[in-house]
Amino acid sequence: MEIDGSARSLFAKLSDERAKGRAIGFVPTMGALHEGHLSLLRRAKSENDIVVLSIFVNPLQFGPNEDFNQYPRLFEADANAAEQVGVDYLFSPSVEEMYPEGQPKTSVHVATITEPMEGALRPGHFDGVATVVTKLFSIVGQCRAYFGEKDWQQLAMVKRMTSDLSLPVEVVPCPIVREPDGLAMSSRNIYLFPEEREAALALSRALRSGSDAIERGASRPDEVSGLMMEILSENPLVHPQYAEVVDSNLLVPSRIEGEVRLLVAAKVGKPKLIDNMGVFAK
Ligand code: AMP
Repeated sequence: MEIDGSARSLFAKLSDERAKGRAIGFVPTMGALHEGHLSLLRRAKSENDIVVLSIFVNPLQFGPNEDFNQYPRLFEADANAAEQVGVDYLFSPSVEEMYPEGQPKTSVHVATITEPMEGALRPGHFDGVATVVTKLFSIVGQCRAYFGEKDWQQLAMVKRMTSDLSLPVEVVPCPIVREPDGLAMSSRNIYLFPEEREAALALSRALRSGSDAIERGASRPDEVSGLMMEILSENPLVHPQYAEVVDSNLLVPSRIEGEVRLLVAAKVGKPKLIDNMGVFAK
């Protein structure tokens, strides 16, 4: 595995790989790798000749009162895990490498999809993600890029952005990896105290109840949202932020018909957790 912190040198190496006819799979992350990330890397490995992993905690996507400084940084463990799953190139640029001129004057904004939920709670967050993903796609070049369904709103935004801007990237959505008890894996889970870890199960429980209600015939989105919110509110350690039923692609409120997506978010102690589930309404 080659570790590279330079965008210019990675671009050159990957251009060479492509010239030799090799297909490139790319997995962008912020590090603190867990089984969720590793599932993306394994999938990329099975579908491509070369796998590129990026680890970059992107300051642009964190608000002033968010956890940029506290975000876990575990480079050595990450590099070992990456090596074990067969990553070929680990790109780990510094903030100066990614933003040599400081705050960029150019920003990528994807309308509609980024407005509700995380977009409403975290102003500027999705522009920060869209901008860094566009930069990473420019550096890596033509590839398949693997994104987790765990961050459903982000995935929907990246898919639409890639299509709107004709970026030479095939976005590949990958299923959510969960702990055996249902908690969606997240780099932030390491900050949960034991009682909070238990309380955090409310998110997946709320989604399952919402999904069961739809399967039993619930047809009013507010009824399903209310039910999920009730479950999130049962434990005082859980501070719910939203529980929504939306159209899977545009993330706008949806009638319960065909494929819909249920999304929840809550703060559990310090960490903010998100989760989601797809449901097909008959
Ligand atoms: P992050 O490092 O949190 O920015 O995540 C990097 C990528 O890993 C994103 O595409 C996430 O959606 C994906 N990811 C994070 N957690 C999971 C999970 N539990 N299951 C599947 N993919 C995940």
